[in-house]
Parts: sequence; structure tokens; C-alpha cells
Amino acid sequence: MSLRASSSAAVLLALFVASTGGAAVAEPAAAGGPAVVLITLDTTRADHLGAWGWPHARTPNLDALAARGIRFARCDSAVPITLPSHATILSGLYPPRHGVRDNATFVLAESVETVAEGLAAGGFDTAAVVSAAVLARRYGLAQGFRLYDDDLAAGGAGDPDAVERRAAATTAAATALLPTLRRPYFLWVHYFDPHEDYAPPPPYAAQARGPHAAYDGEIAYMDAEIGRLLAALPADATVLVVGDHGEMLGDGGEPTHGLLLGHGARRVPLLLAGPGIPGGRTVDCLTRTADVAPTLYRLAGLAPPAGLDGASLLPLLDGDDCGRTSYAESFLPFFAYRWYPLRAFSEGRWLYVHGTRPGLYDLAADPAESRDVAAEQPAIAGRLAALLKALLAAMGERLEGKVSAERALSDEERARLESLGYVGGGAGGEVRHDLPDPRDMVGVAADVHRAAKLVRQGRCADALPLLLGVTRRDRYNFPAYNQAGLCLLEAGRLRSALNAFERAAQVNPQSAVPLKNAGNALLRLGEARRAEEVFARAFELDPISPGVASNLAALLRGRGAAAEAAAVLERAFAAGSRHPGLYLERGMLAAARGDVAAAFDDFLAAAERDPHNPVPLDNAAKAAELLGRPQQAAELYRRSLDLDPGRPALWAALATLYLQQLGDRDGARHALEQAIAAEPDPGRRARLEDFLRQLDPGS
Ligand SMILES: [Zn+2]
Repeated sequence: MSLRASSSAAVLLALFVASTGGAAVAEPAAAGGPAVVLITLDTTRADHLGAWGWPHARTPNLDALAARGIRFARCDSAVPITLPSHATILSGLYPPRHGVRDNATFVLAESVETVAEGLAAGGFDTAAVVSAAVLARRYGLAQGFRLYDDDLAAGGAGDPDAVERRAAATTAAATALLPTLRRPYFLWVHYFDPHEDYAPPPPYAAQARGPHAAYDGEIAYMDAEIGRLLAALPADATVLVVGDHGEMLGDGGEPTHGLLLGHGARRVPLLLAGPGIPGGRTVDCLTRTADVAPTLYRLAGLAPPAGLDGASLLPLLDGDDCGRTSYAESFLPFFAYRWYPLRAFSEGRWLYVHGTRPGLYDLAADPAESRDVAAEQPAIAGRLAALLKALLAAMGERLEGKVSAERALSDEERARLESLGYVGGGAGGEVRHDLPDPRDMVGVAADVHRAAKLVRQGRCADALPLLLGVTRRDRYNFPAYNQAGLCLLEAGRLRSALNAFERAAQVNPQSAVPLKNAGNALLRLGEARRAEEVFARAFELDPISPGVASNLAALLRGRGAAAEAAAVLERAFAAGSRHPGLYLERGMLAAARGDVAAAFDDFLAAAERDPHNPVPLDNAAKAAELLGRPQQAAELYRRSLDLDPGRPALWAALATLYLQQLGDRDGARHALEQAIAAEPDPGRRARLEDFLRQLDPGS
């Protein structure tokens, strides 16, 4: 982050208008300055929107935005993975320069200046609403935002491990914070819905048609919610919409995204509309997601920092600067599978794809990128390969050689990892020419994808043979080992599960996921001390990984280390986690030291965030009783028993509460009847029946 002299946005806006010949953004900003809104569409391929001609699209709101603004028909994403792509969108830098190469195991470094930081320094209020766990503040994108809403489970979403927020909740969160923003402001709203699994809510599922109806249904649902957001924005807001990456939908053999760099994953929607932006125009020049940040600076009336990889889109409106090249990469194959990373370089009509062999596509003659002409056009392939190498060299990187999987660890984090006997950075290693090329491995990836889906559907009997088959063919396949472990865990084969998770952790030592799963296996094996060790390692790698901090804190509390448990919870909260288990554990610690009021608040917060779990409600009810609030306690017991009525002891406790503290004989009678109905033991049932008779001596 570099410091910039804060200047009046209005003055800079005037300078900008002069510098672009006055064609764009010529209208004066409204009182208080501009409202600049960035909307990012996860997993949305451009050619599935109506404005790009998809016949089955139901995207009236985005199409209308295109009609009143500019559609950039050919925008390339820099990387088909959510976190690295958003790091590019927000920084204007390609991944080799911002350093984020994959989800969850990388953090955007503080030293990178994001557009939110730049605009905040220029006097803008800044806020963001994100809808996927991979964009949580922990991963560094919150830099520069005054408000960063990454609380996916807020309002009782129902899933304590929620990894996504649906579009209706995203729009609600964004519109709720609009009145709190003061102009000039920059607002970023991220929608996640088109990401797998495809499950559009009604009526979008039923309305969808065509070969990818469920995927298109998610886009239609997202579009409707974007329509609601656009309607809530001020009439003079400037809106920029961009996709983070697309979806292959089977192109090249890849069902989703992350592996290949074909147009399905690479080509994303890019739209711009607002005051002074000409309406109904299409720009056919090649553009890049790296162009978004410099454009946002210009729209805000500020000069972008020097040395960005992207450039403002606004000169394109005057017909200038059409001749950009684009760079794209995918390192997910390298980090998840130890396959060769793919890179793509596009110039004019040509797309060059670098793997263990060159690929060349003539986008003018073959927009579907279906025919590799590298062998027919070796001179062109060679020229583009040289341009790609030169670009990489300028970014301090080579096609092959050592690649650091180093996250942007703070010295403190690194020291803690080392104190646990754990040194990060072991993953990655070297990009060598003899690694498998992802284009040859799509069958293996498709098997892993199919198996992971089966695991999510609870069909481990079908998934496990598939996964074990993959690990035999491809021995560094991190996701296959991890998914196989989950199936073995479910089957109760705990030692085998543990072996699979340990192998996964060896293959990808940067990921907290297999360590967390190993911790769960160890808990079930009754090995608390070893479980604590692996949860502690997982916690250092990713303090917000769902369930890690709460399990670690519970283990520490269980052996009397209350202060250490409290410190773990505090760090998880500070890192942005709002997992219900954190509240539950903090409540347990508060109750243990006698602070019942604090415990009650935490139990209630846990219940709100995990509405299908009776445990926090039981604890809240007990705390309410201790606090002398029997009415509230009774209500909490009833809510808990609604979730799980088969607990006679809890019904009996409720009956006692009704009788002794509330003087409510009818309530007590009803609770006792439920207790009797739920009690399987004849002796205990007889005593409950006695109790009921004493309650009603007349009957
Ligand atoms: Zn994404």
C-alpha cells in the first residue's frame, strides 16, 4: 500500500475529462461525488447471457444494463479461480504480481494496493458484500474497505458451515448498507450463485431450458436479484459488472472450472453503464479483468497507480487503445494435483496456450477454440511463446522452475507454525517438463469431480472405488485422497481415513482441510491429544476453516487450558470467522468462569447461526434459568424440543420449570405427557406417570 496525497475527487474528475477528450464521464458528479458500484458475477461465462446471444438466457436486467451502457464483448479473465481472479479485479495486477495463485492457501499481501485502498485514500467511502467463503476477509481482499460483509451465515442461513450466500441474501445485505454510505462511495457486490451445485430456486428452475438449464437457471436467479440491487442504487450510480471466470460445462472434458483456460472459463461478461457513458455500444477490442481496477480509478476521478498490468477501459470508448494482449494462468492443477500449470497469452486473433506442449487457436476463424493449429503455424506459436516468456520475465517469473506456494504469512504466523514443528512452503515445488499436462488429465479430474459430487450426495459406496482408482493412476491427487478419507470416515474405517487425510496433507501441506478432517477422525478414535495437535496446525494454516477453531478450543477447555482456548477463539473472531461453534465454545468458557450473562448471549448467537442444532438452545435455556428468567428459559426449551422431541429428560426439566417457577400446571402437564411418550425405559416412564398423577390429583 502506498500513500497518496488525498485530493478532491471533483478536481481529479475534471482533469480526467480533459485527458480523455471529454467523451466519457463528462457529466458533473452529483452532490457529494460519484457512486461507483462494482458487481462481480462468479462462474458466469459471457456466452450464457442474453446480451451475448445465448438463446436460452433469461437475463433481462444485465441485458438492459448492456443496452444503456457499453458491452465489452471480449473480456479475458486472468485466472479461472475465485480468489486469485478477484485479487486481479481489485488490484489491476496479474497473479504473478499480486501473488495469489489459488483459493484458501494464499492471502493477498498487505503490500498490494487494491482499488478500494486507492479510492479510500482519494476520499471515497468503501464497502463490500461478498457471497463465498473463499473471499472472506482473512484472504486479504478486505484491504481498503470500511465495511466488508463476509458474514455468510448471518440471519440464520441454516448451515453453520455455509460457504455461500444466495443472491437474495446478497442483495438484501447490499441494499441494507446503501443508506449508510456517504458519497463519494465505492461499493463492491459479489454474487456466487452460478457456481456448482446448480440448484436455482423456483421459479427459475422450472423456467430454464436448453442443454445447461440448471446452470442458466442460477444465472437467471442472480440476474433477477441484480435487478433488485440496480433498482435500489441511486439513479446516477456508475455500474461496472464483470465475471470472475466462466464455467467449462464439458468443453475440453472439464465440467466446471479451475483446470483449463478455454473460452468457457476464460471469457467473462464485462459491462459498464452510468452518467456520461454512451448507451447501447459494443466494444470488440480484447479486454482483461485486470482492466477493471484502473477503470474504477478513472471513474472515481483518480489516477491509477503506475505499473498496473491492466489499463483503463475508457479510452476504448473513443476507439483508442484497441490492441491489448491478455495473460491467463491456472495453478490449481499444480497445487492440487502436481500437474503442469497452464498459461495462456492472447494477441489479436491468436490465443497461445502453454502447457507441456504448445497450443494455438485462431479466434477469428475458430471462436470455439476447437482446433489447435500450433503445428500448422509454428512461427506464430513461437512468436507468442516468446511474448509470454517476456511478459513473465517482466513479472519476475519463468515458465518452469521452482514455484513458491508460500502464502503471505506474517512473521508471527510463520513463527507459530514453526513452533508447532511445522514449516510451510513444502507444497508447490518445481514446475518440470515431465509433469502431466492438465489437458491430458481431464478424465482424472472429471472422475474426482464426479466422486466429490457423489460424496456430497451421501453416496460413498459409489464414490470410494472411483477415488481409489484415481489415487492409483495419479499419486499426488490431493482432492482424491481427501475425498476418499471422508468416505472412509463415514464408513467408520477411522484408521484408513486417517491414513488418507495424512497422505492428502503430505501432498498439499498448505491446506488446512485434510488436517481438519484428520482431527475429526482422531476425535472419533478418542485420541484427544493428537487431535489437538492437528487442529492446531490446521488453525495456523487457516484460522477460519469451519470447525477448526471451535474443536481446538473445546479440546483445550477439556484439559483445563481455558486461557489458551479463549485465545484461539479470539484469534478466529479477529480473522473474521463467525462460525456458530465459536460462540458456543466462548459461551462454555464464560459459563465455566461464572459469567452466565455473557454465556447466555453467546449461546443465543450460536443458536441463531445454527438454527437446526438444539445444543446451543439447551445451553441458552439453562443460562436463562440461572439468570432468573423462567419464561425465556421455557421458550428456549420448547424451541430446542421442536428440533429434537425425543429427549424425555429435557421434557421433564421443562415440566419442573413450568410447575415450580411459572405455576403453569397445563404447561407442566403437556411437557410430562411428551416426556412419557418419549421415554423408552419402563421404570423411568412409571415415575413420570406418577409425577403426572400427583399433578392432577382429581383425575
Ligand atoms: Zn469464482
